[in-house]
Amino acid sequence: MIVGVHPLAGFDKLLHYRVPDHLAPTLAVGSLVRVPVLRTLRLGVVGQIGAPADFPADRLKSVAQVVHPFPALTEELLQLARWMAGYYACPLDGIIETMIPGAVRSGASLKVEKLLGLAGRLDATELAALARRAPQQARLYEFLARQFKPQAKALVLARLGVTAAPVTALVRRGLVTETERRIEREAYRDEFSAEERVASVPPRLNEEQAAAVAAVTSHLSAGRFNVTLLHGVTGSGKTEVYLHAIEAVLKSGGGVIFLVPEVALTPQTVARLRSRLESIAPDHKCVVWHSHLSEGERLDGWLALANGEARVVVGARSAVFAPVKNLRLIVVDEEHEPAYKQDETPRYHGRDVAVYRAKLNAAVCLLGSATPSLESYANTRAGRYSLVELRRRVDARRLPHIDIVDMRVEVARSRGLTTLSRRLADAMRDRLEKREQTILFINRRGYSSSMLCTECGHVEECAHCSIAMTYHRTDETLRCHLCGEHRAAPLTCPKCRSPKIRWRGLGTQRVEEAVRRVLPRARIERMDTDTMGRKNRFREILGQFRAGRIDVLVGTQMIGKGLDFPNVTLVGLVDADISMHIPDFRANERTFQLLVQVAGRAGRGDRAGEVVVQTFTPQAEAIQFSRQADYAAFAEAELKLRHDFKYPPYRHLIQHRFRGPNAEKLKFFCEQWARRVEQHFGARLELRGPSPAPIEKIKDEYRWQIWYFTSSVTKVIGELDRLRGEFPWPNEITQVLDSDPVSLM
Ligand code: ADP
Ligand code: ZN
Ligand code: ZN
Repeated sequence: MIVGVHPLAGFDKLLHYRVPDHLAPTLAVGSLVRVPVLRTLRLGVVGQIGAPADFPADRLKSVAQVVHPFPALTEELLQLARWMAGYYACPLDGIIETMIPGAVRSGASLKVEKLLGLAGRLDATELAALARRAPQQARLYEFLARQFKPQAKALVLARLGVTAAPVTALVRRGLVTETERRIEREAYRDEFSAEERVASVPPRLNEEQAAAVAAVTSHLSAGRFNVTLLHGVTGSGKTEVYLHAIEAVLKSGGGVIFLVPEVALTPQTVARLRSRLESIAPDHKCVVWHSHLSEGERLDGWLALANGEARVVVGARSAVFAPVKNLRLIVVDEEHEPAYKQDETPRYHGRDVAVYRAKLNAAVCLLGSATPSLESYANTRAGRYSLVELRRRVDARRLPHIDIVDMRVEVARSRGLTTLSRRLADAMRDRLEKREQTILFINRRGYSSSMLCTECGHVEECAHCSIAMTYHRTDETLRCHLCGEHRAAPLTCPKCRSPKIRWRGLGTQRVEEAVRRVLPRARIERMDTDTMGRKNRFREILGQFRAGRIDVLVGTQMIGKGLDFPNVTLVGLVDADISMHIPDFRANERTFQLLVQVAGRAGRGDRAGEVVVQTFTPQAEAIQFSRQADYAAFAEAELKLRHDFKYPPYRHLIQHRFRGPNAEKLKFFCEQWARRVEQHFGARLELRGPSPAPIEKIKDEYRWQIWYFTSSVTKVIGELDRLRGEFPWPNEITQVLDSDPVSLM
């Protein structure tokens, strides 16, 4: 037998090997093997059984080892890997390494323990002879002779301080047997422990929810590929819809992947999910998958899924590669979240990979959000995805009232910059008296280098690209980082002539100080990247907040994810503008999403919620539509704009980033390269740039970029990759291709 193997060795090639007879039975497509490559043994994945008919089999090297008795990747995952390699411009071996956890690749199998037991007897003289000749063997024999039953090998060796060699010798003489025992799986101990599992009686579905479940289950029972977008306003009970769909799949013997944007930030959601899922299928475990797992836990979860002990996994984006058997359903919660995109190689988008994997399995992919990405929404309008809507909150709770505060007026009145408007301060005082809680959000997508007039709210945009221009301190210019247009930065507002043009965001600390001035007696906590770095601190604060020991919580929008605090009746957004003026064609979309999601955090209990949004541009569409949480109207307006400028979702964007220590050289090579690309593609590809990235310099390295617009990513990536290989790049310039980028900074 001959097999083709993809070695994980930093190159993209299928190499052929012979398979020794004794290995053949355990080997299949997707098996992890060790093979000789250039005199070293390398890990590889079997990509193909068999070889071309006239293949010179006699000169082939042999597969040295099969790591697991079952394939580490199913054929379906291998196919997914091939698609990803072509779409995301990443070598196949890099993708495979991303798919298979390190502990699995190293072949460790913590679940099996070796046991040593006595198989034969020595009489006294034989033992004395052995003690003289091989004292270690004698000690081992004597120890085992005193035991009633076989003992764990690792323990015995550690206890006696001997190596494995004497064991081998005794086994060969037939005095000792070595057997394997499967260790009973310990109760899955992880951070989502009992205290967090909310034992909940499932609520009865309302009509809308029931209709949504019926729609999804009909696709499930059809057994065909389908993508359904579940658009449900915040608090409409999307989770119950997911759970019912999952229940249907588990009951019919299928497997499920449930993706959430950030497990570490949504412990409450994950705990709730897990306890519900385990009550649906009590004989199956629910694997939780995230980046903080230890190697052992990861291996445990992976093996449980691969051998069918567990059929459902909840996790962040990499859980999309989980070896779930008979995969019938992939749920992507908060599908609009940029966190689904990996910002290092391979730069895949978890949602899009989920859709593709569902397709390979003829399964259903259920995308859910209160503010769907325009990509997914456009797909429903084009008839590629089904759309299901939940228009009402459960129990007909009202959506909170959104109050827009015009900061231009506040600034004029206070004759300076204010952090908290009087409106917001008054509302906070009111809550403190009523012993209700407040969350203040600070907009961290903040990018401080756009130009905002605090008097009239004007922001300079590029006429060709409809995105905010970026202020460059070095040469005092405003630049469009897309088309490269630039002009001198104005000293006064081009619209109202005011000199108060600023480009500064607010930090959480500054907001916290402002709150202390307004509410000296309140108990205030701040959550930002510093606090979030320490996971326990983060959960501690959330626990205190839930217990009512904190009055005001200040933080970035990340703290709001999936949290459900019934006593929060006021939510403030301190600086709505910032995300609107980042030089990104998705700026409006991000702002709308932020406002709607933030507002959804208020009024989850029995009391009505209130939301105060501070902005210098109250007339902006993203802000006006969010007041009514009118997604359809917002999407309509925004899609039209995207269509006019031919931005995604109407075409795909590929971002080509370049970095180098020397600005002139970098610019020169980017221009040469751009000419080469134009020459090659002609009218087949629209190219914008080269131009400096919005953040032009990071850690002494300059950053430039080119944007390509296309409707066939895989084809263009393939051609670009080939051209790239032939182009004479200096060593100091590094570059990366990013398909469907979400971060444009
Ligand atoms: P969403 O994800 O759509 O914002 P959730 O799924 O978090 O909403 O649900 C909001 C709350 O409503 C949760 O506490 C949930 O338990 C509850 N809920 C969901 N469905 C119902 C229902 N049919 N009746 C009563 N409460 C429900
Ligand atoms: Zn102005
Ligand atoms: Zn432009």
